[in-house]
Amino acid sequence: MAKWFSTMRQRVSAITVIQLGFFASALIAWPIMAEMELFERFYEFSRDHEDWDVDEFSLLIVNLTIALVFSTIFQSSRLKKLVRQRDFQRQRAEQNARHDPLTGLMNRRAFAARLDETAQDVAAHPPRFIAMLDLDRFKPVNDLHGHAAGDATIRKVAQRLEAEVGEIAEIGRLGGDEFAFIFAPEIDVAQVERSARRLINAIEQPFQYKKTAIHISCSIGLMKWGESLSGTEAMRRADKSLYAAKDSGRARFAWYDAELDQQSQERAELEADLKRAIACDEIEAWFQPIINIETEALIGFEVLARWTHRNRGVVAPSAFIEIAEDSGQIGNLGLSILRQACGSAAGWDPKLTISFNVSPLQFHDPNLVQQIKEILDDCNFDARRLTIEVTESSIIRDFSVARTKLEALKALGVAVALDDFGTGYSSLASLRQLPFDRIKIDRSFVTNIAAEPQNQKIVAGIMALANGLELDVTAEGIETNEDLGYLQELSCSLGQGFLFERAVPEKHVPWLIESKWSDWQLSAEDADRLLSLPDIKAVS
Ligand code: C2E
Ligand code: CA
Ligand code: CA
Repeated sequence: MAKWFSTMRQRVSAITVIQLGFFASALIAWPIMAEMELFERFYEFSRDHEDWDVDEFSLLIVNLTIALVFSTIFQSSRLKKLVRQRDFQRQRAEQNARHDPLTGLMNRRAFAARLDETAQDVAAHPPRFIAMLDLDRFKPVNDLHGHAAGDATIRKVAQRLEAEVGEIAEIGRLGGDEFAFIFAPEIDVAQVERSARRLINAIEQPFQYKKTAIHISCSIGLMKWGESLSGTEAMRRADKSLYAAKDSGRARFAWYDAELDQQSQERAELEADLKRAIACDEIEAWFQPIINIETEALIGFEVLARWTHRNRGVVAPSAFIEIAEDSGQIGNLGLSILRQACGSAAGWDPKLTISFNVSPLQFHDPNLVQQIKEILDDCNFDARRLTIEVTESSIIRDFSVARTKLEALKALGVAVALDDFGTGYSSLASLRQLPFDRIKIDRSFVTNIAAEPQNQKIVAGIMALANGLELDVTAEGIETNEDLGYLQELSCSLGQGFLFERAVPEKHVPWLIESKWSDWQLSAEDADRLLSLPDIKAVS
């Protein structure tokens, strides 16, 4: 196409040159011919040689020349018109490639190119400021009023943006309801903030579409570009601050925060690492002994997840359980831990129990009961040896849903325990409604209990409540002999804590039993209590 175009151009120029040449030579030739009396001579020559038909012949040449002149003029104007059309089309194509057709603002590509140019300016004259703006509640505009209303609103938004900051910033539409700004070199922090406030205010004014007033707002991320950064990195940072603005409650602006960004990048790395670790079973089930407080006999283990990271070493669950929950990986993680634990415990004394933590999200997974059943079947593990620990946040949302789920779990033959008791809102009423077999008193009340009268009262109260409801009680976080002695006085049945042992990997369990509980024998009473089929104790 480009080649055709340039050939056309050349042809038009050639014809124009020929035309000019023709007229110029005619202009020059005419007086010379007159001077040399060529016309008179020609006339005499044609009269002397009448039989040669010179006059007819020359008439023919004159006619042909005139026809040629007209045809050349016609051709040339046709070609000129064609070239003008092509010029126009090419300009429009260039315009479309750089501009957003809806708003006429720079499109994403052109804006990115401007950012790259700005990166060079910043290197020579720092700093510069850039901003990213995203409309809040824009999706419902399309959903409720249709795409025509959405388009009309975007167009008006663009007009307001231009009216507010068009003179001090270059504006681009990055797509959808996202806009970006590069402020002019002389604009300082105060002016940028003032612009952000003005933009937020402008977008908050209702947009009229036909007879409807459309209410939206916008959030803005601001970035001071003071160091050498690529355009892409500058944009990523502005985007981060935009998300911070959105998180802080919308219709606000926020500045880029390097520390926050570093944290979120680390978190993103951890999230990616975690995904791989779960897939490769890199997260292991470790085991912390649970003992009979009265006799100090071993009755089983709480299963605790441990991640041995290749660079970070052993990572505690507090650093990854939440990430696994937020990124939707907790289901796979939990199942992997449970499978490992059941697989290991299947090889131990069949009277030893294991206690497994289920996170709130996992608890509400409709497949949970079936998945646990499959693992028990696959590992040929006696369901009565398994306790499922759930936290209050799992049950608080909807008691009847929680009750159904707990009953379904109990129907498998497993026991259920309420974990971290005392830290949340669980009341007597909630405990009465739900079929728990056991409550675990949170370690914040247990550790150092012998020296803290306040905690003594709380734990004594919990014990009285549990006795009334015939619930077993496990005290977590026993660290000293004094604490153990106090809990023995309160007749607390089970306990765990650093006093006995921290969580250990599977391979240490036989050694642990051998060295600490070699003369260990599970009493008939303990065995009866822990391994009898759990009956539903709830009173509705
Ligand atoms: P949790 O269920 O309350 O687990 C008990 C925590 O207390 C464990 O921390 C344990 O190491 C710690 N602990 C035990 N005895 C003592 C003591 O005497 N003193 C002190 N200071 N701490 C003691 P860990 O292993 O860091 O686990 C933290 C939390 O992470 C657990 O709290 C549990 O909620 C969660 N978690 C651990 N493993 C899993 C898992 O496989 N799945 C799920 N969903 N959550 C898990
Ligand atoms: Ca627990
Ligand atoms: Ca706990």
